[in-house]
Amino acid sequence: MIAIVLTTKVHPHYSYPMTQPVLRFAPSPNGELHLGHAYSALLNQQMANDAGGKLLLRIEDIDLERCNPGLEAQMLNDLEWLGIEWDGVPRWQSEHLDAYQDALDTLEAEGLVYPSISSRGEVRHRISALEESGKTWPRDPDGVPHYPGEERLYTAEERAALKREAGKYSLRLDMAKALGRYTKPLEWYESGAGPKAETGKIPAHPAIWGDVLLGRKDVPTSYHLACVLDDALQGVSLIVRGQDLFHATSIHRLLQEVLGLPAPVYHHHRLILDDDGQKLAKSRKDTSLRQLRDAGLQPDDIKRMVGWEA
Ligand code: GLU
Repeated sequence: MIAIVLTTKVHPHYSYPMTQPVLRFAPSPNGELHLGHAYSALLNQQMANDAGGKLLLRIEDIDLERCNPGLEAQMLNDLEWLGIEWDGVPRWQSEHLDAYQDALDTLEAEGLVYPSISSRGEVRHRISALEESGKTWPRDPDGVPHYPGEERLYTAEERAALKREAGKYSLRLDMAKALGRYTKPLEWYESGAGPKAETGKIPAHPAIWGDVLLGRKDVPTSYHLACVLDDALQGVSLIVRGQDLFHATSIHRLLQEVLGLPAPVYHHHRLILDDDGQKLAKSRKDTSLRQLRDAGLQPDDIKRMVGWEA
């Protein structure tokens, strides 16, 4: 059976203090686009058009294992079919790994990142054992335990030795050190409705994420680093994306300050949920645009399904 039809209308409600903003839609070709992506792309396009702005496309394909050309072609075709048009040329993140490496080198030279070797799985395992013994340990908004980060205390020689011996290592932000640089509170301007329907100045709380990953073992960046660098490089001034990234904005604001990048306005929009109130996932095929198209649905049907009222 085919996907959900929303019974509640989703109003593209917004207000923002800008004219001719630059927006971007930044999908990852690591699975098929679903109704949630369709809503986000439509909202980006409408907000860009209404304000006489531009809409750019960025392909977030740093996950070299999961992203592939077939998925990318399907994704671009789905967006075209939906009627989304782009300004300028798309930016492929996989073509700019050198730029991300440069930023990591700068952060490392400033002592703001440190090499680490433990995998997510190892950390999870270790912290679960700790919690089972009755201890508490902080977790980030996604429920992932904070990185313990013993390597944070290593001397320059110990860090160099760890890198030499490990061969492959990740780079993590020394959150406390990065935060220690600012006396002013970090915040962002929100024009959408976050989880608590906030609008206006939102205080950023990057510490809730712990020492986030900025450089992966296999690629010299992470989503967070590539995202803030590219938003700045592409001159993006208004970021329209799903509420699931609301808390990640705290990290993005900190990175923008650390790297001396401008702060865009953010607009987090509501998510398209399934009948059980769950966020749509790329692994769930019955809401994928490809499957809906194969079943004969048209762009207007998709708009109706996401409660679009243009
Ligand atoms: N690439 C991210 C995704 O597909 C979007 C990132 C963003 O909009 O900041 O979920």
